[in-house]
Amino acid sequence: MIIVLKPHTTEENIQRVQNLIQKRGLDTHIVRGAEMTIIGCIGDTTAIDPRLFEVDHSVDKVMHVQEPYKLANRAFHPEDSVIDVSGVKVGGNHLALIAGPCSVESFDQVLEIAKAARTSGANMLRGGAFKPRTSPYSFQGLGLEGLDILCAVRDEVGLPIVTELMSPDYLDIFNEKVDLIQIGARNMQNFDLLKQLGQLDRPILLKRGLNATYEEWIMSAEYIMAAGNENVILCERGIRTFESFTRNTLDLQSIPVLNMKTHLPVIVDPSHAGGKWWLVEPMAKAAIAAGADGLMIEVHNNPDCALCDGAQSLKPAKFDALMKQICQIAEVVGKTM
Ligand code: PEP
Ligand code: MN
Repeated sequence: MIIVLKPHTTEENIQRVQNLIQKRGLDTHIVRGAEMTIIGCIGDTTAIDPRLFEVDHSVDKVMHVQEPYKLANRAFHPEDSVIDVSGVKVGGNHLALIAGPCSVESFDQVLEIAKAARTSGANMLRGGAFKPRTSPYSFQGLGLEGLDILCAVRDEVGLPIVTELMSPDYLDIFNEKVDLIQIGARNMQNFDLLKQLGQLDRPILLKRGLNATYEEWIMSAEYIMAAGNENVILCERGIRTFESFTRNTLDLQSIPVLNMKTHLPVIVDPSHAGGKWWLVEPMAKAAIAAGADGLMIEVHNNPDCALCDGAQSLKPAKFDALMKQICQIAEVVGKTM
């Protein structure tokens, strides 16, 4: 249930309505817009008669929200959320342009890629230190050593770092060192992990599960938000379909749908979607044209020898050419880079 207050309601009146709601055993979440204030009621509102609140002179209207997600719901927060990732804004008209290798392989490798990506216009650096691999015999990532490499490269090039957290064992160290904590597709419904992310101060990049519906994906964001961390960025990365030519099927429709359903930024990872480097450019352009708030793209200086996902990685020159085109599309859709 959401309660829209009349324009220019005083703090005193907001407080009074809030008390009224809390007396019914509900939690409240207040969103203050330029003119309008909205109070979101969180808890079981099914048995509550909206007229209880409608009679209050400060209340404009009371609406039942059908969806099971509240904090992530656009109805609760009509304006786009803008998430601050160590000084880089994401959402609204600000694009996240995240580039880097699938996995951290060495300091020199990450440094070379990061410098090139930054010159091309990337505003964040990605790189996996802990890798969720299908086979236990595949390269599992450099672990904490990889994380230290990312931090050292950040110090050198000045780009915030994005890297995947798989285990709650590393929550504290990620909270201390990582600018944007990535939760991979395979952990999207690891509810215990999601609850713990709610305790952190760092923004979270929540990738869509391999076969997650929009609602399941948003509910996972809701888990993190309900536990106290409202800084969540969603990432579409393709879903499983019957098609096996591509690694996954990029669901471009998720961008406008999620933009309608939630106020959270939605970015797109075309690399893991298609699984082929030559699909990255057209899908990245389509994503920005469709209203995505950014991209996450795998870039490698020597894809043929990459320890992971070389086939879907762009060489720095290709990434550079892509960024020039993205810049033009961004202008058309009113986004800044
Ligand atoms: C990744 O971004 O490195 C990754 C493993 O992606 P996903 O979780 O989307 O498969
Ligand atoms: Mn990868």
